[in-house]
Amino acid sequence: MEIRINSEQLYGELEKLASFSDAPPPAVTRIVFSKTDLAARAYIKELCRAADLVIREDAVGNMFARWPGSEPGLPAIGTGSHTDAIPHAGLFDGTVGVLGGLEAIHALQRAGHKPRRSIELVMFTSEEPTRFSIGCLGSRLLSGSLTVERARSLKDRDGRSLDDVRAAAGFTGSLDDVILPRDYYDTFLELHVEQGPVLEQRNIPVGVVTAIAAPASLRMQIEGEGGHAGTVLMPQRHDAFLAAAEISLALEAAAKSTGATDTVATVGVCDVFPGAVNGIPSRVKLEIDVRDIDLGRRDFVLQALHRTCGEVTKQRGVQIRTEILNADPPAQSSRSAVDAVIQACTELEIQCLPMVSRAYHDSLFMSRITQIAMVFVRCRAGVSHRPDEYSSPEDIGLGTKVLAKTLARLSL
Ligand SMILES: [Zn+2]
Repeated sequence: MEIRINSEQLYGELEKLASFSDAPPPAVTRIVFSKTDLAARAYIKELCRAADLVIREDAVGNMFARWPGSEPGLPAIGTGSHTDAIPHAGLFDGTVGVLGGLEAIHALQRAGHKPRRSIELVMFTSEEPTRFSIGCLGSRLLSGSLTVERARSLKDRDGRSLDDVRAAAGFTGSLDDVILPRDYYDTFLELHVEQGPVLEQRNIPVGVVTAIAAPASLRMQIEGEGGHAGTVLMPQRHDAFLAAAEISLALEAAAKSTGATDTVATVGVCDVFPGAVNGIPSRVKLEIDVRDIDLGRRDFVLQALHRTCGEVTKQRGVQIRTEILNADPPAQSSRSAVDAVIQACTELEIQCLPMVSRAYHDSLFMSRITQIAMVFVRCRAGVSHRPDEYSSPEDIGLGTKVLAKTLARLSL
């Protein structure tokens, strides 16, 4: 069976999908359940229908497009990713896994492949944490990694609950029905741009992910005391921003102190209240992200952060409230899924690098209910979550070909 990928068409679809955006091109902004997101979903569904796939959507908006196998009762082979995009992002993150997954199915259909196991394309809801401050909302729910109670308590920045927002978007079923049984999938494969520099540095077009780093994120509210920037003298101050600054630098020091290049920590949000040049900051909100492929090291940084907060509270007379938004363990790919990808690469004579994913993906949560592996596509300069994110049509075509070949093998 010869697999031919139509890279040009795939690239055209990626560009078309990017036109569903709340930011001017080349930037892409597509927040979950916005009008733009719903229009993009409609476009994807239209493409799936044209490929004769059977479409189902669950209560949180995860979309499943199934190519039924000759033995439809067998656990399916899943593939897919997400199409939501953070503000001012690029056009490849997630989308390559959805449209590339669809093109892989197209290619197998054209090649006359007759799957025994069904092959199912998944578009996960809200991989990005932009709206509800929690990443991988759809895959967390369907893998049972997030309780329905917790999901119901989620609110966006405008105070609207997930239930309200999804109902307004037309997803009205019960969240209790989102979870999938453990034998639903035999294997799940996610095609994704690397979002890092390793493949480019090694001059290799495709990677196979053997493990996904453990992410944690926290929200911290620091309450100090506001006042006039001229009249309150330094010894009397309880400046919430200076407390935040001290915590941020201590976080950096803790991450560096592990001595491992895999430990990373970031303060990505710092909202200062009241935000006036002549007002002492009375309140600061921080959002903090800590990751490592080693759970022990990741948790060491979290503990160091906790200790620092205790010290800063005492020394600066501020109050600190910390909420852990998520603290997930790392995921290991399954040996057999990784081997299947490597074998596909060997047969296609495409060079492939086994590697770790430092970004987390829906596959992190899919690993709780099925065997997973990921196929990475080389990207330019490791740039992602930016409008200048780029992977070449050739490399995306190669990644898609590897995915198609692996799906073909696993679905027999
Ligand atoms: Zn992504």
